[in-house]
Amino acid sequence: MEEKLARKRRVLLVPAPAQGHITPMIQLATILHLKGFSITIAQTKFNYFNPSNNLSDFQFVTIPENLPESDLKNLGPGRFMIKLAKECCFSFEKWLGLFLLQQQSINEEIACVIYDEFMYFVEAAVKEYKLPNVILSTTSATSFVCRFVMCKLYAKDGLAPLKEGGGREEELVPELYPIRYKDLPTSAFAPVDCSVELFKKTCYTGTASSMIINTVRCLEISSLEWLQQELEIPVYPIGPLHMVASVPPTSLLEENESCIGWLNKRKPSSVIYISLGSMSLMEIKEVFEMASGLVSSNQHFLWVIRPESIRDSKFSNDEELLRKMVTSDRGYIVKWAPQKQVLAHSAVGAFWSHCGWNSTLESLSEGVPMICRPFTTDQKGNARYLECVWKVGIQVEGELERGAVERAVKRLMVDEEGHEMKVRALSLKEKLKVSVSGEGSSHKSLDDFIRTL
Ligand code: UDP
Repeated sequence: MEEKLARKRRVLLVPAPAQGHITPMIQLATILHLKGFSITIAQTKFNYFNPSNNLSDFQFVTIPENLPESDLKNLGPGRFMIKLAKECCFSFEKWLGLFLLQQQSINEEIACVIYDEFMYFVEAAVKEYKLPNVILSTTSATSFVCRFVMCKLYAKDGLAPLKEGGGREEELVPELYPIRYKDLPTSAFAPVDCSVELFKKTCYTGTASSMIINTVRCLEISSLEWLQQELEIPVYPIGPLHMVASVPPTSLLEENESCIGWLNKRKPSSVIYISLGSMSLMEIKEVFEMASGLVSSNQHFLWVIRPESIRDSKFSNDEELLRKMVTSDRGYIVKWAPQKQVLAHSAVGAFWSHCGWNSTLESLSEGVPMICRPFTTDQKGNARYLECVWKVGIQVEGELERGAVERAVKRLMVDEEGHEMKVRALSLKEKLKVSVSGEGSSHKSLDDFIRTL
């Protein structure tokens, strides 16, 4: 017993190799570290997160695999994750065996292994060594439910209800109000059957002892109850993780801080911030429609245009033209921004977003209403919730043209409707603050989870 107490307790965390998955995993690791656990982060070489000095207490290790570097880009996220899982299922198990021997030799004990829902191969390996394992869901609870339902629909009726152009897009999915068939998390990068193959794996909890989810009861109570019933393991909603502990920047791209200086010169709530996350793509035509609409809206705007986010490879020729069009004292373009700092800035009045789950939580936690332009998968359901459930966003659907851009920006930045959304967004911000504070639901959930370790 005494020997056991003297041993250090380590948590091994396995993030999925994408910006929106790495960030919440590092946030969770930071929280556990503050609770006294030692931390190891195991990553593949893809989108490898290089820790800053501020995370020097964490151990970073590499999972061995032999996939070509080009696979991530060439296959698209869904197919890539399936291939990565096949590649890693044996190599990870072997690597884990050696890792555990090392831990024993330094008298350390693994308290649990926490893996991203999309790194499902970890479960089988961990089972071999009889370690406690926990799933981290970095998407919304509703997105998890939608994946479940999509697999069931596919099993029952095949492709028909899920196919684009199949005629049911606008219909509501039974028992998933307000999600329509077109809001289900189909992918822009892969066919439906490939998504279903992946979702079946991510929804399988296997021997996992529990699931942590980066969400909040007050945002998704009915989806959380649904999950709790269906999964038959405890589900701990402990988010928004970025509000629970402050973490040094986790960006894979360099953050351009100069935009904060630009924001400092603007009036309160006078700027619209535009960012489509780490994976969305735009057509060059859409970029120019967007630019025209923004300019004619007469509002100030800060726009993130990520390198490689434009499908047309000739964009570099057009970049100069675009900068001439928007870079006046009205618009500011960067390749990557310190987003949380931007959303917390008093000058920012609205967020034009692809509605990735992290961006959604970051915006809600600062009381910033949103213009929703989802691109793929769970972003569509998040946008629907922002518009119809939390009522702090408007969705721009259909072809992107300058008139629609201008109207959407004015609705949020100028009209009474935007003002009402701002009031609701600020009230949600307060609720989220309460959730992570002493008596709040996320705080209690986190305590409950820690007790299981
Ligand atoms: N982000 C950032 N700077 C940018 C754009 C995005 O730091 O210019 C961060 C953002 O704060 C969020 C993450 O990148 O934490 C994107 O995750 P999200 O789930 O919103 O979308 P994804 O990239 O997964 O589609």
